[in-house]
Amino acid sequence: MKHLFHKTISINTGKKVTSMIIPELDHPTLHLAWAQFDQAADAMNLDHKHRERLKTPQRSLMVSLPILMDDGRVKVFMGYRVQHDSARGPFKGGIRYHQDVNLGEVAALAMWMTWKTAIAGLPYGGAKGGVRVNPNELSLSELERLTRRYAAEIFPLISPDHDIPAPDVGTNPQVMAWFMDTYSQQVGYAVPGCVTGKPLAIGGSLGREDATGRGVVNVTMEALQHRGIRLEDSTVVVQGVGNVGSHTARIMRDAGAKVIGISDVSGGVFNPQGLPIESILRDHTHGMPLSDMNVGDHVTNEELLTLECTVLVPAALAEQITVKNAADVRCQILTEAANGPTTLEADAMLQDRNIFIIPDILANAGGVIVSYFEWVQDGQHFFWKEADIHERLHDIITGAFQRTLAFSQEKNTSMRMAALMNGIDQVAQAHNLRGLYP
Ligand code: NAD
Repeated sequence: MKHLFHKTISINTGKKVTSMIIPELDHPTLHLAWAQFDQAADAMNLDHKHRERLKTPQRSLMVSLPILMDDGRVKVFMGYRVQHDSARGPFKGGIRYHQDVNLGEVAALAMWMTWKTAIAGLPYGGAKGGVRVNPNELSLSELERLTRRYAAEIFPLISPDHDIPAPDVGTNPQVMAWFMDTYSQQVGYAVPGCVTGKPLAIGGSLGREDATGRGVVNVTMEALQHRGIRLEDSTVVVQGVGNVGSHTARIMRDAGAKVIGISDVSGGVFNPQGLPIESILRDHTHGMPLSDMNVGDHVTNEELLTLECTVLVPAALAEQITVKNAADVRCQILTEAANGPTTLEADAMLQDRNIFIIPDILANAGGVIVSYFEWVQDGQHFFWKEADIHERLHDIITGAFQRTLAFSQEKNTSMRMAALMNGIDQVAQAHNLRGLYP
């Protein structure tokens, strides 16, 4: 860790780069990702030759997807795939189905994937994809047609050696299965390694479904230990009860913490004595919104974020903690399971109040770590035991946590800056070594 910045700092020319204007990418989440990058780049005195390059995605594809709806209409949806940087290896990143998805948001998420894979030491670059659609408004067959058409349209960018998608908000193992099948139909044989987060029966990995939540719990436990707080004395509030939020809540509860608040898009429930997580997750899986459950007091998502707790886990969407509510957040540890849940200004306010923040690119890396295991297993046609996957995930993510913590203490900086500087430095080193083509 001591020599982390050797290559990038030693050749710094000190020139300032003016901020870029890329109208096609204009989006608040990308502005957040850029502002974080600028802060870290300034702090590490990153060579100017890397700055613009690392802020601009390497390749962006926008596709239109005409889909036959069940009522006979043809509706066109917009799809995207952004490949941010491949200096360290093939592109890797999830696919999001959400009504607010656009090119700029996908570019931000792709950029964060680059830093995330670098700090976890995975041999990948960052990418992300998405379709602007509310998947809850589609029938299953419409969802399948949309997925297959999206996979076919972005096919030229995808392959196990080039770019490997995975699930994100609004997508799941079934969507990945349709994606894998469409890819395989194009090439004429089964290619499990073209996508991760698949069902087990077609080359998925044990431990992938709950990997992001498990990783969130692993790093939260390290943070509790660092702060001298016993897990059994901890209370936890989770925003979002999707893939990441549900597994985080369940594993936290199983480990001995008390989960006192949880929400979905409809609102949340709160019980200071602890919530019955098993029945909440079961009813939610059967389609019951949290606002309809009688398991505690009902709270809005805004109220949920300001509940007093030991650990707050935003596990839904970006920009949930802002200048408007940061002063009211009452946790000791903020574990960012979602991507970009905290704005830059709110981040500074929370740090001033000594709230320990585990940044998204570290906290939610469990998903891509086990996706990496899945990709390796698919390539080797040899599958590992679940216990091995849990252990290797734990080793990688807690190792990244401890490196980041040590570096943040050494440089007297935040966990977010330490993680970003580490990730950016790994990527900058790869660019230095590979040089600029042509
Ligand atoms: P998901 O679609 O499974 O779940 C999203 C959850 O957020 C749902 O419970 C939904 O009701 C809730 N939600 C949506 N809009 C909301 C709002 N306005 N207010 C409150 N809650 C709202 O998605 P997921 O895969 O669990 O992803 C959640 C977050 O974690 C995202 O930021 C995603 O990028 C990030 N992430 C996911 C993975 C993964 O493996 N799935 C990996 C890394 C990071």
